[in-house]
Amino acid sequence: MQLDLALQLLQQAGALLPEAEPYSEAWVQGVIDALCDLSSKDALTGLVNRRSFEMALSREVDRVARSGESALLLAVDIDHFKAVNDTYGHAAGDLVIKAVAGALNQVVRPMDTVARVGGEEFGIVLPKCAPSFGAMVAERLRERVSELRVEVASGQILAVTISLGGAFAPQWVRSSSLLWMERADRQLYRAKAEGRNRACLESQIESLVSAEEKGMLFAVTQQDSE
Ligand code: GH3
Ligand code: MG
Ligand code: MG
Repeated sequence: MQLDLALQLLQQAGALLPEAEPYSEAWVQGVIDALCDLSSKDALTGLVNRRSFEMALSREVDRVARSGESALLLAVDIDHFKAVNDTYGHAAGDLVIKAVAGALNQVVRPMDTVARVGGEEFGIVLPKCAPSFGAMVAERLRERVSELRVEVASGQILAVTISLGGAFAPQWVRSSSLLWMERADRQLYRAKAEGRNRACLESQIESLVSAEEKGMLFAVTQQDSE
């Protein structure tokens, strides 16, 4: 039975089962919610996982294309992380990843999404984010992580830094989450090349589209949706 399979999956993942009367409406809803959580969250950090993040990015690309509002995507990567694994072991590395995830999540606004998109790589999408605000947030994230002190099993205290790359979603044009991520990654690569423990943000490209053209774009969009 499908429901038994779902319960087995949740138990294996160590998820909490709903407390309501088994097979009641509230209980089934609880099982569905737990399954949604399991498929959209990263097990180690509890952050949004890559698949769910890509969906959030696509939604944001569409929203920015329609509204012209500014949105920032940050690509984040822990500096010299291989050395942490090599020196202190994989379990210590995992503790560092968890600590960095927690620190990133504390700095952003509730409307922002922080995701673990790879081993020691994170993505953050910040809707309604003006360029000056974006630069400030990126710097605050960098600083917050550099202040972390992570105690690992050997009793040693580790300090880590991150590099960040940022790109704004193109306004008034249709783009894709993939192209947006590529642009943020290019800036991350620049931050690494320039010495790490820093944030590099792409300057927001001035829109070449005139106000009249923007009006035409909306007229077409509205006709399309009728
Ligand atoms: P850089 O500053 O250039 O980013 O150097 P780096 O050493 O951090 O290089 P890179 O980003 O390529 O390192 C990624 C390493 O992360 C390689 C892999 O062993 C480790 N890693 C990936 N996933 C996990 C994980 O889930 N747990 C742990 N402990 N390590 C992981
Ligand atoms: Mg990496
Ligand atoms: Mg790294």
